[in-house]
Amino acid sequence: MDFILATNNMKKLQEMQRILSPLGINVVTAKMLGITLEEVEENGKTFEENASIKAGAACKATNMPAIADDSGLCVDYLDGAPGIFSARFAGEHGNDERNNDLLLEKLEGVEQNKRTAHYVCAICCVFPDGRKITVRSECNGTIGFARDGTEGFGYDPLFLINGRSFGRYTAEEKDKISHRGNALRLLAKELEKMI
Ligand code: IMP
Repeated sequence: MDFILATNNMKKLQEMQRILSPLGINVVTAKMLGITLEEVEENGKTFEENASIKAGAACKATNMPAIADDSGLCVDYLDGAPGIFSARFAGEHGNDERNNDLLLEKLEGVEQNKRTAHYVCAICCVFPDGRKITVRSECNGTIGFARDGTEGFGYDPLFLINGRSFGRYTAEEKDKISHRGNALRLLAKELEKMI
């Protein structure tokens, strides 16, 4: 069965294809089918709500089962910010450089043991007949004092696990422990039960 993947983020798309394909889940983008998905307003208050909004809209537009994720970084010292606003933390949607600069700025002078954070990933799958699966996973780490490494995307150069930045994890290493990797594996299990 083919699933529409509702994302315009090519890095996320690659991560999702990499993890789902070996699990027998074939994902395509609307673009690959020559369909243009309208931008939807992500006005949910939680990661789960936003994932559901995106998957619901893609399912409605294509009449295919649709998968969408909503993810972000929650920093304890910032009371969970940027959270659902991670992509547009510094104002401009998807500007990773400015988002990372702003994060470093907001944590200036904050000592190591207060720099705890976690990534969150909620994934929603919506079927044309109305069935819906929602899963969520988190990944704990800390925020570094400077960027390190060039792998991954978004906040990865600043996100450390056991002192090593996600910017220095290979794609395969990241997939094994990341919020998105774990959420996708949960989704695959739920889909297996349903299909
Ligand atoms: P979304 O596309 O609305 O879900 O926004 C997700 C945002 O959260 C991205 O633009 C990144 O800033 C951040 N983010 C989510 N997952 C990751 C990750 O695995 N690595 C780095 N940043 C991430």
